[in-house]
Amino acid sequence: MILAAVRDMAKDKIAPRSAEIDTENEYPWDIIELYRESQLLSMIIPEEYGGVGTGELTCCLVIEELAKVCANSAHALADHWLGLEPIILGGHEEVKQKFLPQLTTKLAAFALTETEAGSDISGIQTKAVMEGDNYIINGQKIFCTNGGTADFISVFIRTSADRNRGMSVCVVPKETPGFSVGKKEEQLGMRGTPAYELVFEDCQVPKENLIGQEGDGFKIALGVFDRSRPFDAILAVGISEGALQYAIDYAKERRQFGRPIAEFQGIQFMLADMAIQTEAARLLVYQAAALIDQGSSFISQFSSMANCFATDTGVKVTNDAMQILGGYGYIKDHPLEQKMRDARLLQIVEGTNQIQRVVVARSLLR
Ligand SMILES: Cc1cc2nc3c(=O)[nH]c(=O)nc-3n(C[C@H](O)[C@H](O)[C@H](O)COP(=O)(O)OP(=O)(O)OC[C@H]3O[C@@H](n4cnc5c(N)ncnc54)[C@H](O)[C@@H]3O)c2cc1C
Repeated sequence: MILAAVRDMAKDKIAPRSAEIDTENEYPWDIIELYRESQLLSMIIPEEYGGVGTGELTCCLVIEELAKVCANSAHALADHWLGLEPIILGGHEEVKQKFLPQLTTKLAAFALTETEAGSDISGIQTKAVMEGDNYIINGQKIFCTNGGTADFISVFIRTSADRNRGMSVCVVPKETPGFSVGKKEEQLGMRGTPAYELVFEDCQVPKENLIGQEGDGFKIALGVFDRSRPFDAILAVGISEGALQYAIDYAKERRQFGRPIAEFQGIQFMLADMAIQTEAARLLVYQAAALIDQGSSFISQFSSMANCFATDTGVKVTNDAMQILGGYGYIKDHPLEQKMRDARLLQIVEGTNQIQRVVVARSLLR
């Protein structure tokens, strides 16, 4: 039911906006309104807080359908879910009651990365000091997707000097005094979901906005990544599926040497490899999502394997699809150069593909 409706919405309302969203380099508010109306914003929020409460696998299927036609639109939704996941995963009852019902219609973002803390997340320096009933936050975050548009941001803060156990996370509403949105980044791809700098200058946040206990931040961040990495992975799969279909249709139409290029074995083998890799990636992501829904203890390993393989596949398949279009693949009249630029980001965010391999190797050698 959900999927049929999402597929129709993607085809009729989102696909026609894809190129424009990229060119305008602006957040797709009209698409967010569609998500709001169709309850996609609240899919991962449990029913007792007003959400739909669907599992990981269903969420992946939705992102896949959206990404087939518009990676930016899928990314906007996946990163909203990323922003509210710390509350679902680590929040105590009061913080869930306070924010999750609002987040069924409002937007969230996830702010962890800093200039000196990228792959090494324990290096964060954004400092929070308790004064009375408030945390006073000072510091700066970078590369926060949805950071300029979100109503609530899950912000990772340093509450003591201990590298891992000194990390905490709290919810910062956008209108909080002392919080401001800084530079908007100029990106290669995913240009409709730009990343922002966030600035905290004596930003006063009530202590009730803390997610979990002081010191839970590192554990919550890793738990969130286990659940969010399949979303980026399936986004890459959706992009690959869209690129493959476009290349197939083009190869059947385009004639050279008196026949369709689809009749050349060189093209056929490329298409076959693209299909094999995309399908393998898809099944690995479904496997990771199913393990999450089952509460398996292999979640970290499978989420990282799926993320790494699917996002590497996304870049390879979109690049090969471009090649099948020859010169036309390189120009903006066709969507493949955009798909390749959009896919490229997914090898970097929520842990680079080197870090995904570190996680997999660590699980194997444990
Ligand atoms: C457009 C965009 C959107 C983003 N959105 C968000 C967001 O919403 N929220 C958020 O918190 N962050 C976000 N990020 C940040 C992103 O998660 C980081 O960029 C990423 O984790 C890598 O960190 P870094 O850029 O500092 O690279 P670095 O950590 O400096 O890495 C540089 C290179 O060294 C490699 N490397 C580092 N450590 C190791 C190691 N141990 N072994 C092997 N190789 C290693 C990396 O793989 C990489 O190739 C976003 C980034 C971009 C570009």
